[in-house]
This record gives sequence, structure tokens and C-alpha cells, in this order.
Amino acid sequence: MPHLMLASLTTLRLGGPVGEPLYVSDHDDWQELVHTVGRREEYSPLTLGHGSNVIASDTGHPGTVAVMNTRGITAKRHDDNTALVTVLASHPLTDLTTWAATEHLAGIECLAGIPGTVGAAPVQNAGAYGQQVGDTLDHLTAWDWDMDRLRTLPAQACRLRHRNSRFKHDPGRWTILTVTFRLTRSPAAPISYQPLAEELGVQPGTRPPVSEVTHCSASRPRSTCC
Ligand SMILES: Cc1cc2nc3c(=O)[nH]c(=O)nc-3n(C[C@H](O)[C@H](O)[C@H](O)COP(=O)(O)OP(=O)(O)OC[C@H]3O[C@@H](n4cnc5c(N)ncnc54)[C@H](O)[C@@H]3O)c2cc1C
Repeated sequence: MPHLMLASLTTLRLGGPVGEPLYVSDHDDWQELVHTVGRREEYSPLTLGHGSNVIASDTGHPGTVAVMNTRGITAKRHDDNTALVTVLASHPLTDLTTWAATEHLAGIECLAGIPGTVGAAPVQNAGAYGQQVGDTLDHLTAWDWDMDRLRTLPAQACRLRHRNSRFKHDPGRWTILTVTFRLTRSPAAPISYQPLAEELGVQPGTRPPVSEVTHCSASRPRSTCC
């Protein structure tokens, strides 16, 4: 059988053969799947979302490559106008921000338009226009390849910093499976990014409706990470 190529999984269309592909389309199958891959201990596993932020080598990845394709959003609403929103790893971030806007849930509206999956977003604490994942991350679940078990990490344990996290410093150890945000039914978070405020026609510090900020963030030109 021909090798799966990383080039088919990355948006730059770069990258050589994959050693052991692990296709994950149903979250509930994860534990079973992970125990069936013939993992080669000498190579760290690689996890891919949409492959929008990966430059893969022509030599490929000789170890396990987890190709995440799990999608879904579930929300637990609380009386205090907050909701715990749990999202499966491969759900597109932009789809989540659109959903949150429809539900009038604030906290991730400036992330609209960032390419990629929700599972990849904590890896670099994805953010834009003064807002980042760490502002509303409650906890996440991840497979710990070193300990061979499922872990629940509260936001603090993820060590999120500006475009940085513990996951960046330990490549291959973690596959993030679900991400849970605590969102609030309220107007958008106060706008801190001057150009966004100007485009919205408001003063910095204003809290426009979530849908307006989502729409404006999604339609701003985006070349690279900010
Ligand atoms: C045009 C453009 C604009 C961008 N703008 C922004 C921006 O405004 N702000 C911003 O923060 N970023 C921005 N980025 C970067 C990119 O959107 C983020 O890095 C995003 O999180 C990548 O998602 P992905 O699913 O494509 O991840 P991938 O490219 O598949 O993976 C990125 C990294 O995360 C790891 N990873 C992926 N999924 C998982 C998982 N489930 N568990 C563990 N590790 C995983 C991968 O191994 C890799 O190290 C931009 C990128 C592009 C190309």
C-alpha cells in the first residue's frame, strides 16, 4: 500500500511519508485506536489538525501521526449566564466562533477567522486583536503519550503565555482531544485593539454585540499570526 504523505495533510502541501497513520474520526474510539497502533517508541507521535501551521520535511515522519477529524460542540449552561462549551479537537475554530455568536456567548469573538482547529488552538494560545484562548479556556483533555493515559488539564496547567504553552515545549507528548471554554452570555469583551475599534466605529473599551465583533474579526485580512 502506498505511504500516506504529510503533503496531503498540510496546507503548504509539503512533507514526506507517514510511518503509522492514526485516523481519528470518532472521539469515543480514541482509547481503542491508540492501543491498536504499532507505535515505534523511538519516534515521538505527531498530531495534526488542519495542518495550517506545520512545515513538514520531505523525509516525513517515521512515527505515529494522529490525523484528527473529530467534530462537535456541547454546551452546559449555568444560571449565572455562563456556559461550559466543550469542543472536539478537529472542530474548525471559525465554526466555533460563529456558533458562539449565534448563541450570544462572549469570550472568543476576536478569534473568528483564525485558520485551523480548536484542538490546535491551545498549542500556541491562539489569539488575535487582544484576545486569546487562555482568556476563556477552562480545561482540556489530552492523551499523554508518555504516561499512556488520558489526562484532564485545567487551564493553569497548560501554562499558556503569548503564543506559547507547555504543549509547544513538549512536542509529541500530547494529543489534545477536547477543549472546554467558559463563555458568558453578554456583549463582547471590551475592545482593546485600536484598529478593530475603528473598524467597528466604537471607542476602545466598548462592548459591542458578539455577532458584530465576530463578523468584523472574521473579515479582517489575515496574512500571518498576530
Ligand atoms: C494565514 C494564517 C493566518 C493566521 N493567523 C493567526 C492568528 O491571527 N492568530 C493565531 O494565533 N494564529 C494564527 N495562525 C496560525 C494558525 O491558525 C494556528 O496555529 C492554528 O492553531 C493552527 O491550527 P491547525 O489545526 O491548522 O494546526 P496544525 O497546523 O495541524 O498544527 C499546528 C501545531 O499544533 C499541533 N497540534 C495540532 N492539533 C493538535 C492536537 N489536537 N493536539 C496536540 N497538538 C496538536 C501540531 O502538532 C503542530 O505542532 C495563522 C495561520 C495562517 C496560515
